[in-house]
Amino acid sequence: MMRLLNRLRGRPTCEEIMEVLQSYLDGEIDADTARKVAGHLDVCTECDRESQVYETIKASLASRRHEIDPQVLAALRQFGETLESAD
Ligand SMILES: [Zn+2]
Repeated sequence: MMRLLNRLRGRPTCEEIMEVLQSYLDGEIDADTARKVAGHLDVCTECDRESQVYETIKASLASRRHEIDPQVLAALRQFGETLESAD
């Protein structure tokens, strides 16, 4: 896993983002890599949409209900924004 994450140097490609996206959303990658992912999601519509799909799935599993709790989604988005603005 670490070898994979170490590949995120300079400007990561969409493919590289996809490889670490789940770890990113789970908060399992280092701050530097997370910043690069957040920066990419900010400018890449496709990866951003993919991250929202993951978040929706995560929220769905967490709530163990068929309906997505909008409060969970809002909290996750807020968390994402925190990562994005973190220096
Ligand atoms: Zn992308």
